[in-house]
Amino acid sequence: GAKAQGRGAWCFFHEAMTQAARERLALESRLRTAITQGHLRLYYQPQVDMASGRIVGAEALVRWQDPQEGLIPPARFIAVAETSGVIGPLGEWVVREACRQGQQWRAAGLPDLTLAVNVSPRQFHLTDLAGATAAALAETGFPPSRLELEITETALAERTEDARTTLLRLRALGVRLAIDDFGTGYSSLGQLKQLPIDVLKIDRGFIQDLPASADDLAISTAIIAMGHSLGLDVLAEGVETEAQLACLRERGCDHYQGYLCSRPLPAEAFEALLRAQAHSDGRPAPPTAPSA
Ligand code: C2E
Ligand code: MG
Ligand code: MG
Ligand code: MG
Repeated sequence: GAKAQGRGAWCFFHEAMTQAARERLALESRLRTAITQGHLRLYYQPQVDMASGRIVGAEALVRWQDPQEGLIPPARFIAVAETSGVIGPLGEWVVREACRQGQQWRAAGLPDLTLAVNVSPRQFHLTDLAGATAAALAETGFPPSRLELEITETALAERTEDARTTLLRLRALGVRLAIDDFGTGYSSLGQLKQLPIDVLKIDRGFIQDLPASADDLAISTAIIAMGHSLGLDVLAEGVETEAQLACLRERGCDHYQGYLCSRPLPAEAFEALLRAQAHSDGRPAPPTAPSA
């Protein structure tokens, strides 16, 4: 009857929930182990100056190099890290590793770079981000002005007073602040004006259909103009074609990232790209650092 069927459905549902919960717990504990055993990696995607075509920075993007599964993308584990609290140690590792690598590149005589690091909403609101950032800078000696933290618009839209306080603490350290995936959230112009922000990163969603989409053209043009009127740098994410690049450059967009220049690269490959750029400038490339 209906009752028995209902119970059967409940049991099935319950089983499925338990299964999902078990998988989450397993992933969470594997992730903790991955951090302590050094299985996380940072990949670096070049950030290019539109006017000169030169690489002036990189966004650090985390990957999990699992001995069995291979390279696991952040989409598979950041959400679990966020809800379980593992985002605390994970985020600390990411900021410290980016600063360590950045300082190593400086010591090797490579051109000055800005390194951008992602901060997810719970990491921003619930961990001691300013404390962890200050510690990473102090331990590595990486200059604060070369570090940029990317916060999503969504994170800034909740608990706006606390968010502003955290941004001010970070700003006091001397780091740069960027709004990631800009245009997908609901930040008001009034709020933007009051936040100590340096960069707007236009979400890839507004870039991918350029130049054909009239709506996206209007939106990206407006973001660039608004950013500039507030004194901010504007970076376009996910630039894949010359046509997209040309149309953004015409509109005065400052920087871009995207497959057109390069996919995110392991540190050694990114370093090779920088050396090739320095070489093509006619400047002598610094000697290759001895490998560890
Ligand atoms: P995001 O910060 O918006 O990073 C941009 C994503 O777009 C990256 O994916 C990058 O590989 C991808 N991308 C870059 N250029 C192109 C392009 O031309 N075309 C296309 N189709 N995609 C492009 P990824 O590395 O898989 O990272 C996904 C998201 O995971 C990031 O989005 C960020 O929100 C999060 N994430 C990555 N690393 C970290 C981290 O260290 N900490 C935290 N909290 N989140 C991270
Ligand atoms: Mg980002
Ligand atoms: Mg983004
Ligand atoms: Mg995005």
